[in-house]
Amino acid sequence: MTEMLTSAQSDATQASPRVYDVVIAGGGMAGSMLALALTQRCPTLTIAIVEQHAETSPKASFDSRSIALSAGSVQLLQQFGIWDKLAPFGCPIMDIAVSDRGHFGKTWLSAAEYRVPALGQVIEVEHVGAVLAEQLAAAPQLTRWQPKQISALRRSDTSAQLTLNDGTVLETRLLVIAEGGQSATRQLVAVPQQETPYAQTAIIANLALAQRHQNKAFERFTEYGPIALLPLTNNRYSLVWTVPPAEADALLALSESDFLAKVQQAFGYRAGVFSGCGKRAAYPLVLRQSPQVVSHRAALLGNSLHSLHPIAGQGFNLALRDIDCLSALLAQADNEVGSYAQLRQYELARQADMQRVIWLTDALVRTFSNRSRLVALARNLGLFAMLMCDDLKTPLARQTMGFGAQYAKS
Ligand SMILES: Cc1cc2nc3c(=O)[nH]c(=O)nc-3n(C[C@H](O)[C@H](O)[C@H](O)COP(=O)(O)OP(=O)(O)OC[C@H]3O[C@@H](n4cnc5c(N)ncnc54)[C@H](O)[C@@H]3O)c2cc1C
Repeated sequence: MTEMLTSAQSDATQASPRVYDVVIAGGGMAGSMLALALTQRCPTLTIAIVEQHAETSPKASFDSRSIALSAGSVQLLQQFGIWDKLAPFGCPIMDIAVSDRGHFGKTWLSAAEYRVPALGQVIEVEHVGAVLAEQLAAAPQLTRWQPKQISALRRSDTSAQLTLNDGTVLETRLLVIAEGGQSATRQLVAVPQQETPYAQTAIIANLALAQRHQNKAFERFTEYGPIALLPLTNNRYSLVWTVPPAEADALLALSESDFLAKVQQAFGYRAGVFSGCGKRAAYPLVLRQSPQVVSHRAALLGNSLHSLHPIAGQGFNLALRDIDCLSALLAQADNEVGSYAQLRQYELARQADMQRVIWLTDALVRTFSNRSRLVALARNLGLFAMLMCDDLKTPLARQTMGFGAQYAKS
């Protein structure tokens, strides 16, 4: 069973460091999923999670959002032994329609065309949190330190010593930083971060629908940013609506019926009539990226390494590929955990994928949020060309399905 240490227990152990092979800072989506992947692929390694919140699936990470998982990500979750438990909460995406409001450009991707069972799956992250917590509770090699934070760090050739905010000292061969976009521990390892605000806010909500959604997803570009509708279980849509920051508070404050009228007006009727709306939340959108993937005895993962605009639903899909890569490297040579050679391999292996996804996402945001008539014409011709020419559409489909460069339309 997972060991959960309280402050009283940890006080008694302050004198001698607690030693682990891997310490994961941050027990959110990325940190917990890495812990699970390690229990599957490297069962002999001892692991600790340091999480600032008390809950085993902290609300900060496992909130009311839904995420689109690419077909490639679903394959990874199968390998990590968790997909069977998640599948009942997932809704397959069979078609994606992409359009540009007020212009003729339009394109679509379909699972049938690419001969795959589904383009991806949409799942509410609170279900992911609950299933992860249950799976990890049964892992004897995992210890949770929470609610705790790392307040000091010292590194030697062979290990990192971490002092928690209650004075407890942990020692590890590898510190993995998965604390999300604003990580205090990333600052302790002195890895810089580049930050580019988008001057956009994402409003999210689950919408009930009067008709059946038929597993169709929509991405509609407007002059202020994209609106995405992702099909959910129980005939609901997950809405991600990008708006100017100054409008976000007013949209959150509207009554349910007024909010639904605004969404209907912004999106039109191509997805049907929206008949109800769940809890709304707002996320200011910022591109954050670390130029360094690793530091001595430390590796970055998930939003601590790259926080993306949700326009293409790539953030957690990218994090799953970080997790796959790091856990596979640790499994290949567990006597080398945290060595310079191993961390350098992780950095080299992740850089190209990360840069491609960041570039694609950022280019989508900038091209489709631009109000210039020339850019509007260019992007509409682009969508029109994609619709007409499969060779252009395939790279978009490939990235959407999370197969990167290995996948080719057969
Ligand atoms: C509106 C929206 C829609 C999205 N849609 C998609 C999608 O469709 N598909 C997709 O792939 N991705 C999507 N994403 C991205 C996805 O949500 C993120 O990639 C993912 O949540 C990142 O997880 P993380 O664990 O790296 O960070 P977080 O979720 O931020 O978790 C960080 C964890 O670290 C803890 N922590 C922070 N600081 C400390 C500290 N100092 N000490 C200890 N613990 C700490 C936090 O409490 C938290 O538990 C979307 C994001 C948004 C905002």
